[in-house]
Amino acid sequence: MSETQPFDKISLLRQAFKGLSADELQEMATATQLCTYPPEHILCHEGAYEEVFYVIADGNAAVSKNISEQDGERILRVAGKGDLVGEMALIQNVPRSATVRTITDCTVLEMNKKDFETLLGRSPSMAINIIRTTLDRIRENDLMAIRVMQSTNKVLHHLDRNKMEFIQVAAHELRTPLTVLKGYVNVLNSFPEIKTNAALVEVMDGIIKGADRMHEVVNTMLDVTRIDSETLKIRPVPVPLKRIFNQLASDFTKAATERNIEIIIEQDEDTPGINADPTLIQKALYHLIINAIKYTPDGGKVILRSRSVTLENNTQGVEFSVTDTGIGLDAEHHELVFEKFYQVGDVAIHSSGKTSFKGGGPGLGLAIVRGVARAHGGKAWVESSGHNEVNFPGSTFYLQLPIDPPKTQPPTLTK
Ligand code: ATP
Ligand code: MG
Repeated sequence: MSETQPFDKISLLRQAFKGLSADELQEMATATQLCTYPPEHILCHEGAYEEVFYVIADGNAAVSKNISEQDGERILRVAGKGDLVGEMALIQNVPRSATVRTITDCTVLEMNKKDFETLLGRSPSMAINIIRTTLDRIRENDLMAIRVMQSTNKVLHHLDRNKMEFIQVAAHELRTPLTVLKGYVNVLNSFPEIKTNAALVEVMDGIIKGADRMHEVVNTMLDVTRIDSETLKIRPVPVPLKRIFNQLASDFTKAATERNIEIIIEQDEDTPGINADPTLIQKALYHLIINAIKYTPDGGKVILRSRSVTLENNTQGVEFSVTDTGIGLDAEHHELVFEKFYQVGDVAIHSSGKTSFKGGGPGLGLAIVRGVARAHGGKAWVESSGHNEVNFPGSTFYLQLPIDPPKTQPPTLTK
């Protein structure tokens, strides 16, 4: 550090604090010290309590912030002549929120905290001026943060598109040979040599089950890409809700009985009929029911309900809910589980089998449920008091749909 003289402190301070009187500027100049630092000198250390603020007189300094261990430090802005650095932490009495490092030879006016506070206390106009300058800075920082977020969002959106395109291609490529394989397996299965050999029957059964499960996963991948592509057009027709519910319940009877899980249907008498895409509604309910079975231990209950509701926009709709007596879900995951490929806990410790307790899956079921809800102008969400594998608090997943889907695609909803 070296003291640099002579220098017109007054004109620099006038540039930094517009609107101060000549006396106030003079007083401030007397309380400041002019210093010059080489490049790479740290004026402010992020996280430290420090007693000095600076007005840059000549040269540049970078203001940077540690974003995270993974992302490292990011430069927020480059400060130049007339800019203030380090004053916010002094006003707020908090540690520095960023690091300020000179990037050229840099001459600065320094003022320490005590003198700064004395001046502010004596001169309301100076205090107001500094508040104004500080608010401008906050607004500028906000705008900059929004711009960074917008461009990061764009990149994320692009990456997400790439990922979905890859999934779509991969699922299509897998489906064709899988269909061929299933065809040959069915032919093989009809051979008398196999039908009469108990060991081979078991082997064939394993192959068929595995191929069916793979087919189902591939179809789920295609469903999610279709639902995610924002081009999903629904063809609404009157939906036989009772029939769909009963059909699904009976489809799952075998799996539920094997696990000693009771499926109960409670449909309110006044549950209205809706106009919707029956295939999509069936898919959404399928994923809710299979999840309820999968995340409920043997001996539990799954309750399927439907009732009439008044929606947020005061129109009539229908609400489906699937309640289980399973492991439950902590609040921090309530939104995230509806994201594609999101799974709670360690994926590696999942057991296999689509209806076995905590059986694995790609993490797409709930993304499909929410996609279907949105495509119909409805919403999907979960309520659960938390995850507990001792008391099994259970969860309730809701799907709310209007009686008639909107004519145009609805805007993105929060749920
Ligand atoms: P997929 O449905 O693609 O076969 P998945 O069941 O793991 O796989 P989702 O249905 O999207 O994926 O569910 C996401 C995650 O939400 C699950 O991995 C699970 O951790 C949690 N979850 C879903 N339903 C329940 C439930 N009824 N109780 C507790 N946790 C649940
Ligand atoms: Mg699922």
